[in-house]
Amino acid sequence: MIDLKDLRANPDKYRQGAANKNSHVDIDGLLSLDEEVRALQTQLQQLTAEKNAIGKEIGQIAGRMKKAEGDDKAALQQRMAELQARPNEIKATEAELGEKLTTLEGQREEQWLHIPQPADDDVPVGKSADDNIELRRWNPEGELAFDPAKPFAEQRGFEPKSHIQLIEDLGLVDFERGVKIAGSRSYVLVGDGMRLHQAVLRYAFDLMTQINGFTPLSASCLVRHQTLVGTGFFPHGREQVYDVANPTAEGGLALTGTGEVGLMAYHMDEILTPEDLPKTYTTVSTCFRREAGSAGKDTAGLYRIHQFDKVEQVVICEADEQVSRDWHQKMIGYVEGFLQSLGLPYRLLQCCTGDLGPKNADMIDLECWMPSRADGKTCEDEGGAAGWGETHSASRLYDYQTRRLNLRYRDPADPKGKKTLFCHSLNNTVAASPRILIPILEMYQNADGSVTIPEALRPYMNGQEKIG
Ligand code: AMP
Repeated sequence: MIDLKDLRANPDKYRQGAANKNSHVDIDGLLSLDEEVRALQTQLQQLTAEKNAIGKEIGQIAGRMKKAEGDDKAALQQRMAELQARPNEIKATEAELGEKLTTLEGQREEQWLHIPQPADDDVPVGKSADDNIELRRWNPEGELAFDPAKPFAEQRGFEPKSHIQLIEDLGLVDFERGVKIAGSRSYVLVGDGMRLHQAVLRYAFDLMTQINGFTPLSASCLVRHQTLVGTGFFPHGREQVYDVANPTAEGGLALTGTGEVGLMAYHMDEILTPEDLPKTYTTVSTCFRREAGSAGKDTAGLYRIHQFDKVEQVVICEADEQVSRDWHQKMIGYVEGFLQSLGLPYRLLQCCTGDLGPKNADMIDLECWMPSRADGKTCEDEGGAAGWGETHSASRLYDYQTRRLNLRYRDPADPKGKKTLFCHSLNNTVAASPRILIPILEMYQNADGSVTIPEALRPYMNGQEKIG
């Protein structure tokens, strides 16, 4: 949620910010609603002040009436009668204005929630993911050496199989029974498929907790709507969420598409101290996505599915742009360390304004090389794009989520300790599986159809070195 005060002061910043994000929100409509709300609030305050003044005057007249006589007394009695009648009129007007205010505040909130956070000035302006900019690439060297700019067969000496083919040949996933159980885009991980999936998640989780010192949390994936509004997944993006049809007495519940919701909502409506910050949390949770609007896209295999598991990282830090920027880099660094330890070629993409979504001030995607997505081509054949598949997304949100969640901390600059500030928040994937199994299986496949297990994952697979 953006800062309304800032919107009033700098409407053009938000008009341009929305246009750069292809968002057609009605900034002027919101501003005029806001004016109406504030005018009504002023009217109500004036009525309260009038009520107070009347009470005071009634007291004074009552005192004067004790000593008054004749015409004076009659005049005071008349004034008293006038004053005593007025509060009833005020009450009726207050009720009428109060009702109007509630309706208008609701309408203002509805529009306010849709206003996107403008992207940072250093984010390139662009229409869609096609305008994202590659920042850099990392290729493994030594035994695992591989360069996506050269054909797979030239480097490994055999034509690669796709992960779908490998899975089928090695019996790692049963798509047919998956669909029988849960419909399209479903699967059952079987045997070593399930073990490899668990291994990569446990490895990522251990990296975040044991090496990077994040606090592990496990929150519910079934959450109140309020948490989804708070984290910015409602109302924009609502169509991607599995909403539970039979709400409880406490209101609607929905299944989360990412662990970020629970990690962020954990401190909803709280005031932290400066010493509490930063909060660095990680979780492993099941993610549910309707993938609305993706009909016909990536229908086969493990790339785009309705349910997967994800190790997620979230940071809640002080409200300082540089601190947020530094955390963003650090959180990307953790993932680079993870991918490098697995020897997977990857690249970093600076997402353009059109690909950021309403919440983010900045977003960096990490994409792994997936030979089957290149379909025999190298990344250079397709202008650098073929074969890369998004595996991670690192978001910097400043106070966009924390305003919605009402998550604040005491301003250390206020000696009385009364002033509060909204925290900043960031999130990034650590490992999303089974999607991450695609580059692992495809990059570690051997000419004989077997798959070598990356060294870093072997401790999580009882020392097993190969599948098949
Ligand atoms: P996001 O929270 O949308 O940034 O997604 C984080 C990561 O989750 C992505 O980079 C993917 O690795 C993974 N992911 C997202 N959506 C899906 C999906 N429908 N199927 C499989 N993996 C997904």
